[in-house]
Amino acid sequence: VFILGIETSCDETSASVVQDGRIVLSNVIASQADIHKRFGGVVPEVASRRHVENITLTIEEALREAGKTLSDIQAIAVTYGPGLVGALLVGVAAAKAISYARGIPLIGVHHIAGHIYANRLVTELEFPLIALVVSGGHTELVWMKEHGHYEILGETRDDAAGEAYDKVARALQLPYPGGPHIDRLAHEGTAAAIPLPRAWLEPGSYDFSFSGLKSAVLNTLHNASQRGETINPADVAASFQDSVTEVLVEKTTRAVKEFGAQQVLLAGGVAANRGLRERLAKRCQEEGIPLVIPPLSLCTDNAAMIAAAGYISYQKGKFASLDLNGVPGLPLS
Ligand code: ATP
Ligand code: MG
Ligand code: FE
Repeated sequence: VFILGIETSCDETSASVVQDGRIVLSNVIASQADIHKRFGGVVPEVASRRHVENITLTIEEALREAGKTLSDIQAIAVTYGPGLVGALLVGVAAAKAISYARGIPLIGVHHIAGHIYANRLVTELEFPLIALVVSGGHTELVWMKEHGHYEILGETRDDAAGEAYDKVARALQLPYPGGPHIDRLAHEGTAAAIPLPRAWLEPGSYDFSFSGLKSAVLNTLHNASQRGETINPADVAASFQDSVTEVLVEKTTRAVKEFGAQQVLLAGGVAANRGLRERLAKRCQEEGIPLVIPPLSLCTDNAAMIAAAGYISYQKGKFASLDLNGVPGLPLS
């Protein structure tokens, strides 16, 4: 079964052909990061217009790279939420048009389900499992008993992990998106240099909070500049990353033990973070629990993960009708 995946929820226009939900034949990503960089963040109206300009070529390129034509495709899987509504609509409209024109089923995919299923492009999933989802807009621990079933054990009460990375990066005057820059700097600094808080919240809670940490970093920078002192940005990055990854990894490990997971998945753009990958790998090894982490190219937004998640709906015969709409606040469970 060949599924064409389409992703336009934020600032990446992406199309991909995936075979049987497991084998990536192509995964074309047109990133708009360079355009949004000068605004320091994604400008929704600009993003929608760019998606419109890029979508047709991106789909054609994905088919060409896969060595397929539309007549080889059995279904279209598209992200219909959450995300920027104007951006989502471009992908949804393109998917509906192809579905209607070719008479093949349309599948609506939740963007975060896509991030989780990026892991199935690496290896087969073993249930029950825990997925740690860390992205630009989400931070959650997800419990999965079986394919396509999601239960949120805990989530962020304020900023998402990626959002915190990007805000701290901006305070350090690093370019957007700042996550990768902090990651790089963190490896040159000392984590113990600046004492920063850890948001454990109430005992037993699987929720997260990053806004207090972000404020602590901003205060540290502000106070230093008031006193005319300089702080090594690498130390700030290392101390910030240490706080974020400690809480993420410890809560994930606790959930694994409490619920008895067979596997841990790391998902979302922040899964590209080296500090997080290393720390989680070490902890999972100590606990003897198998960990799956997607390659860097499948961590940030891409359509292969959408096609992989869509394959589960395809097998269950769960199809969308042609009135499918973009849903900016679509819930996962
Ligand atoms: P969501 O998936 O929640 O809708 P999104 O699609 O905008 O949000 P992703 O594309 O999944 O987010 O991830 C982008 C985020 O990942 C950005 O905040 C970016 O800074 C962060 N990120 C990417 N690489 C790294 C890294 N190496 N270290 C830390 N953060 C990173
Ligand atoms: Mg992006
Ligand atoms: Fe994403």
